[in-house]
Amino acid sequence: MSERTPIKQERVLVTEIPGPKSQALHSRREAVVSAGVSSGLPSYIERGQGAILVDVDGNQMIDLGSGIAVASVGHAHPNVAQAIAEQAYDFNHTCFMVTPYEEYVEVAEALNELTPGTFKKATALFNSGAEAVENAVKVARHATGRSAIVVFDNAYHGRTNLTMALTAKNMPYKDKFGPFAPEIYRVPMSYPLRDGLTGDEAAKRAIESITTHIGAEHVAAMLIEPIQGEGGFIVPAPGFLPALREWTAEHDIVFIADEIQTGFCRTGQWFACEHEGVVPDLITTAKGIAAGMPLAALTGRAELMNAVHAGGLGGTYGGNPVAVSAALASIEVMRSEHLNDRALHIGEILTSRLEGMAEEFGCIAQVRGRGAMMAAELVHPSTLEPDADLAKAVVSACGAQGVITLSCGTFGNVLRFLPPLIISDELLNEGLDVVEAAFRSLIA
Ligand SMILES: *Cc1c(COP(=O)(O)O)cnc(C)c1O
Repeated sequence: MSERTPIKQERVLVTEIPGPKSQALHSRREAVVSAGVSSGLPSYIERGQGAILVDVDGNQMIDLGSGIAVASVGHAHPNVAQAIAEQAYDFNHTCFMVTPYEEYVEVAEALNELTPGTFKKATALFNSGAEAVENAVKVARHATGRSAIVVFDNAYHGRTNLTMALTAKNMPYKDKFGPFAPEIYRVPMSYPLRDGLTGDEAAKRAIESITTHIGAEHVAAMLIEPIQGEGGFIVPAPGFLPALREWTAEHDIVFIADEIQTGFCRTGQWFACEHEGVVPDLITTAKGIAAGMPLAALTGRAELMNAVHAGGLGGTYGGNPVAVSAALASIEVMRSEHLNDRALHIGEILTSRLEGMAEEFGCIAQVRGRGAMMAAELVHPSTLEPDADLAKAVVSACGAQGVITLSCGTFGNVLRFLPPLIISDELLNEGLDVVEAAFRSLIA
């Protein structure tokens, strides 16, 4: 391995952000990269370590987004980098469907063990979250012989054709990209801030909608994010998920938890379903699984996963050797560095800091989330009208000060925090000081 100077875990501003070198790269990019692919903060990154990203101008930025919940073990974790390098020197590809290798099997073993449920499980590996979700739908339809798929308001499941249909929000994900796949039915989600319903009431509303509009006997699967990610970090009211889990079991409907954003220690458990003791039939994972290498998985009941004929699931790159080696190293880091505990600790800091800001700034209607997946929903004070402009302005003000934050939400008005789980308290607090200052400067 090449010798690298360690990156001090501190924020350093050398130029304006983005600086001159980033701006030059951005012009080059605009000449050749599709305008359909955009970047929140066009600071071009040269290196990263832990919770710090260094751009081409030498600015050191605090990363409170982890590249959307991916770099949970931190950027360039030495154990993961080592695993990737060693595997790259061994072999990079065979295609598991042509000639298999042990690391794929090891990842399947790990996922079958870590996911909730003591029943016999099986796993299949893919490249992206959307691909895992598509395969969950394929498995559920194949195993049940039914076609309808139930999804929820505010859901995000990806950008491929089937997953666009599963995703709720038109702009930017679906606009003019149709026609979309049929047999997808959307029902109301529990959204405590905006519907005021208990978990049981919200579950009853969703179930009534399914019964009247589709008929339970036609439903292959219910697909749900235990905490909605892109849709606004919406934590359903307590009891909502267990009630749906119970109802789907009574009607032989496959319950699929999309844990692509919530999984792998992000919420202080291996999987967010565990907070309410919910055991899904199938679980999709990606993002945090392999520290940035493209990998996704579908894990669940063996009788469902094995109902599919041989050759029915797969893909050229699914479970790529380098990606699975990165996953094994990442999972080991999550265990040895107790990242579930770290996520809970980060959650306490985020909650108390954001609650403090909510007291000071009337524009924060609610602070919510679990563990290191926390958000503040921004509204026009004294009404609940979403304030997307403010969310955008805060993200941009923080970026200019070298702190990377993200927004989300059906209405674009949610400021979300997904820091690497190895971030120090000091760095996290410094990042939040910048967020607080941004609010203060924007709210006259
Ligand atoms: C990101 C995400 C996806 C899509 O994953 P990709 O790897 O971008 O295809 C699906 N579901 C959820 C909950 C996600 O957060």
